[in-house]
Amino acid sequence: MTEDTLFAKIVRKEIPADILYQDELVTAFRDISPKAPTHVLIVPNKIIPTVDDVSAEDEAALGRLFTVAAQIARDEGIAEDGYRLLVNCRDHGGQEVYHLHMHLIGGRPLGIMAPERRG
Ligand code: AMP
Repeated sequence: MTEDTLFAKIVRKEIPADILYQDELVTAFRDISPKAPTHVLIVPNKIIPTVDDVSAEDEAALGRLFTVAAQIARDEGIAEDGYRLLVNCRDHGGQEVYHLHMHLIGGRPLGIMAPERRG
């Protein structure tokens, strides 16, 4: 059995979150520590720990992450200026919560995607 996650508890509404959208496949809620004026997380309701764990049967939920992200970006008024969608994978990707999630970040210019390596 897959281990339970913080985000699965949010999906099941066992812990509070500012949920913007939920359907049978995905849930979207505001990041608790926003890095920009809009910072929303969109997660599959099913626990998929990392991108490395996705399979063909997840394609409907993974596709839905994009359509929901695009709709929320329009609702937030950031679609025209643009925004960033980000999925971190494991340690080097900076993943903290092992329940696959897409970050929708926008509302200000975001600069370069990843800082140059120093040293
Ligand atoms: P990542 O580093 O890609 O795993 O991103 C995890 C994100 O989850 C971070 O941006 C956190 O701020 C966010 N986060 C952690 N706990 C919560 C929570 N209870 N509700 C909403 N967002 C959270």
